[in-house]
Amino acid sequence: MKLHELPGPDGAGAGAADSGRSRPFRLLVISLAPAAVVPSAWLLPAGRLDVGFLLLALLTVAVSSRVGVGIPRTTGRITVSDTFILLALLLYGGEAAVLLAVAEGVCSSLRISRKALTVLFNGAVMGCSTCATAWALRLSFGPPEEALRSGRAATLVTLVCVMGLAQYVFNSGLVAFDKALKLGRGFARTWREFYLWASLTYFAGAAAAGVLARLVVTFGFYPVAAAAPVAAIVYLTYQTYLKSVEAAATQAAMAERHVQELNRYLAEQERISRELEESREHFRNAALHDALTGLPNRTLLTNHLKLAVEHAKRRPGYLFAVLFLDLDRFKVVNDSLGHLAGDQLLVQLARRLEECIRGADTVARLGGDEFAVLVSDIEDYADAARVAERIQAALGRPFRLGGHEVYTSASIGITLSATGYEDPESILRDADTVMYRAKANGKARHELFDEAMHARAVALLRTETDLRRAVERDEFRVVYQPILSLVTGEVAGFEALVRWLHPERGLVPPSEFIPVAEETGLIVEIGRRVLFESCRQLREWQARGLAREGLHVSVNLSGKQFAQAGLAASVAGALADAGLDPRCLRLEITESVIMGNAEATCATLERLRALGTGVSIDDFGTGYSSLSYLHRFPVDTLKVDRSFVSRMGEPDENGEIVRTIVTLACNLGMGVVAEGVETAQQAELLRGLGCEYAQGYLFSRPLDAEAAALWLQGVEAEARP
Ligand code: C2E
Ligand code: CA
Ligand code: CA
Repeated sequence: MKLHELPGPDGAGAGAADSGRSRPFRLLVISLAPAAVVPSAWLLPAGRLDVGFLLLALLTVAVSSRVGVGIPRTTGRITVSDTFILLALLLYGGEAAVLLAVAEGVCSSLRISRKALTVLFNGAVMGCSTCATAWALRLSFGPPEEALRSGRAATLVTLVCVMGLAQYVFNSGLVAFDKALKLGRGFARTWREFYLWASLTYFAGAAAAGVLARLVVTFGFYPVAAAAPVAAIVYLTYQTYLKSVEAAATQAAMAERHVQELNRYLAEQERISRELEESREHFRNAALHDALTGLPNRTLLTNHLKLAVEHAKRRPGYLFAVLFLDLDRFKVVNDSLGHLAGDQLLVQLARRLEECIRGADTVARLGGDEFAVLVSDIEDYADAARVAERIQAALGRPFRLGGHEVYTSASIGITLSATGYEDPESILRDADTVMYRAKANGKARHELFDEAMHARAVALLRTETDLRRAVERDEFRVVYQPILSLVTGEVAGFEALVRWLHPERGLVPPSEFIPVAEETGLIVEIGRRVLFESCRQLREWQARGLAREGLHVSVNLSGKQFAQAGLAASVAGALADAGLDPRCLRLEITESVIMGNAEATCATLERLRALGTGVSIDDFGTGYSSLSYLHRFPVDTLKVDRSFVSRMGEPDENGEIVRTIVTLACNLGMGVVAEGVETAQQAELLRGLGCEYAQGYLFSRPLDAEAAALWLQGVEAEARP
């Protein structure tokens, strides 16, 4: 057993690595070695050293330390060199064994280290321990050769045991001491930890040496040597077996590692998919909930509404209600206390709303200060109304917003599923509509969306669809209402008024579709067509000699059209297309539109004026005109609203308003047209007030182009003497 063959924590063998701490000990052992080596060399019985010894020595030094028998599942090895040294001890005496051990220790050390201290120490350890073993045997049994030859099995077994034990104790004792010093740990612990297992290899080596020695004694050296090939075959077979055992063990270890890795991987996968699911859940939640209040959002409410609609379809008698809620003074809170307070209010409101509903119901935030409550499975409208009242009561308590006490109320619109809804959108739309009615009717109240409203809403929806089709199929016609001079009785011009020739409903008046067209933006296209057609028509009359010079056509412009960027270009296009003198075109814009955005209006009017067209303010008196603006606007005519004209004939009415408007127009250098003149008395009064022009049923209803042409001819004929 050699130091470098002992397992150590540094893997390469304790002897390979030198260390300052064990250096004195090593030097001590080296200095002791001559005490074993010199007498051995001196006393070596040279006569007994035969060819067999030389062979043994050669094998030991050259080969045997490389050849060993491994012990499966340990790092230990029974090296053949150990066995051979003990064999030499038994056959040729202690001196020969000591020298052989030193030689073997030095040679095998040299193979792994060039450090003199290590090499010498290893040789010294081998020499000293073998010497000690030889002495132990000699003291116990006398010369070992004789004990061997005595032939008694018991003696032989004892001899082998003592030999193994002694060699183990001395050899590993020295090595363990060296290692303990190096590691700075206790000797006993180091020995137990690193060298206890090695005792086995010593006993096995000693046993093998005992058996071999006995065989040599009995049969002579050469017959035993002749058995070497057999031993070699056995050795190689065992070695092969050992390799396969090792390979199997390695495979098993690898498999175990793989299983562990797989388990780790699976656990990791599980963790990842769990986290993925959690984050998915989070996003699902975020996608369906309002971030501020945590309430369901519009999407989730719509989902619930869809289910409720389905349910109502399957189960007759099943009734649900939707409450659309809008805070009455939210803007005030936001503007006065800031957005943070506004947010706080919304959050507190959300909590109070939740308190007002049952578990099966849904309260959602639709955005801003709009909330909706789905009240499922109710008996009748009264149930929904009670929820609305509960909500109002809950909102009646003050909200505390950062030191401020705030009172608020809500306007609530209610729809019932009894109306027979098909989709969530129309439910919410109707609830929204009726909420606005609640607001308009005085706020802090609730209002039910009834059948009549529903019918109106449905009709509105139909109008919208039809209107789009009407634009596609060009179902619009223009009618013309004459405008006359109250002074001369001559036709001053015509107002172009649009009509919709609906394939089923017939002639639809503008009041029924202009607001829808405004809302949908279709008015821009409709208005453009009226403009082109009116210009073309007047030009045609002019060409036919029906319209005298100076006769104009007045075309109404909606707010949307007026705000349109390309308005002036569109007007110029219509004029150019018809080849009409711009002075023959007058554009009517209502007072409320004109005053809506005075700055922008001014610029637009200037652009129109630059084209050379005239401008009238329509429905004058119904809006809120700012006089300061009025005189700055390039406007030609004021059209007195029909309502003032119609009231002129009434008892207490002396036409003050009309008189004021006429005076105002006169002062601003504008012309005046009175609308809706139905009676001769009105015409007379207007003439008396100095109103220049008039338009109304008294003179003519709006006429289609052909009738207007005839009318023109008639008037012309009448005017002619
Ligand atoms: P408006 O511009 O004030 O047009 C005058 C309205 O008064 C016309 O109604 C006309 O038929 C009606 N009217 C005329 N004389 C009398 C009368 O003696 N008594 C009564 N009660 N009514 C009279 P209409 O054609 O139904 O048009 C209604 C409104 O629709 C128009 O009011 C105008 O604001 C809008 N409108 C009509 N055509 C167009 C158009 O082409 N474009 C735009 N943007 N709006 C138009
Ligand atoms: Ca008009
Ligand atoms: Ca008007």
